[in-house]
Amino acid sequence: MSTRTHYVSDFLAPRAEFALFREQPELVYLDSAASYQVPDAVLQRFVSYYQQQHANAHRGSYPLAQRATALLEGARTEIAAWIGAGADEVVFTSGATQSFNMLAQGLQLDWQAGDEIVLSRAEHHANLLPWQRLAEQHQLKLRWLDLDPVRGTLTDAWTDVIGPRCKLVAVTLASNVTGQRLPVRAICQRAHAVGAVCVVDAAQAVASVAIDVAALECDALTFSAHKMYGVTGCGVLYLRQSLQARLAPTLLGGGMVTTVTSSTSEWQTNLHRFEAGTPNTAAIVTCQAAMQWLEQQRQAGLKDYLQQLAQELRQQLTKRPWLTLLPQSDDGLALVSFYSEAVHAFDLATFLAEAGIAVRAGSHCAQPLLRDWGHEAVVRVSFAAYNTRLDSMRLCEALDEAYHLFV
Ligand code: PLP
Repeated sequence: MSTRTHYVSDFLAPRAEFALFREQPELVYLDSAASYQVPDAVLQRFVSYYQQQHANAHRGSYPLAQRATALLEGARTEIAAWIGAGADEVVFTSGATQSFNMLAQGLQLDWQAGDEIVLSRAEHHANLLPWQRLAEQHQLKLRWLDLDPVRGTLTDAWTDVIGPRCKLVAVTLASNVTGQRLPVRAICQRAHAVGAVCVVDAAQAVASVAIDVAALECDALTFSAHKMYGVTGCGVLYLRQSLQARLAPTLLGGGMVTTVTSSTSEWQTNLHRFEAGTPNTAAIVTCQAAMQWLEQQRQAGLKDYLQQLAQELRQQLTKRPWLTLLPQSDDGLALVSFYSEAVHAFDLATFLAEAGIAVRAGSHCAQPLLRDWGHEAVVRVSFAAYNTRLDSMRLCEALDEAYHLFV
């Protein structure tokens, strides 16, 4: 047995750290790309915040409120450092979707009719619809970085798409459909070479890829805590200093102003102008705890473990000629998508659900990619720290039963 294979069977400890799997040991959860389950230590942080530390941050001067403010700002500092940013470059949102909407509605890039926004064909609708609306409002042109249906990578001519009329490029670090990583650093460099701003969607990659905004050379980057073992309701939005001056707040209200009269208001000059309203401090400190937990798992070799699980599943599925796998190169996420000409993806997912196996079928909020590749729906299997080889075995057994039933 090789060291890596040995390791796969050793990496079982985290499953016991999840109440869901203690209560439902038979559950095969293979839909982490949609939302990760939350380990006890992380959930405990949420509970302890509400039990002992809750108050409205950045408002009161009594000790409890001051402590809540310190906790919120401490989380900001630590999360910012984790992605290679400064604390004065990180805004908390409710999730990646809100971040993209804030950017599309607030960026002041002197839009002129005919200017171009470049997106990859793999974008999640969250990083597409807000730009579509902006394009309609200003008569901008959307242009696309296509993905090769056989290799899964960007087609060779992608640099030509980012031309002199391009003002903004918005791309994902990794596709939530195939797990394919995109060459984001090179894309940001190309964007900057034509004077465009580059926005990165790290929502799907954040649990698997160590993020360094300086190395990526991006101007903005966002992700959601629920896709990295945290809870819903917390998004992280990195904004490079120079971009902050070009972003108008789109959410107005308490906390983002200094002086208000009955007819005028003066906004905060710091990042708080992008965080109107009561912050979700519970979700934010829980995101910090999730980051710490994830980092521990990374040190223990989580990435290799998940890559191996995904690779083994690919090998197993390849032995079943009635299934076709979507392409992914070696450095992709631990995620496998497939379809069958014989059985609809929704039927497969329903059959698997009845067997206690949670996968997702559909367009995965990425209809342009699927349409471009000629598919309506695919089944997606995604791995996280609590998955084991047994999960893959049960999936393969259930797929074989589905084959006998449907084909
Ligand atoms: N971007 C990608 C690549 C995603 O996979 C998702 C969620 O599935 C999102 C953005 C949107 O994230 P949220 O729903 O947390 O705002």
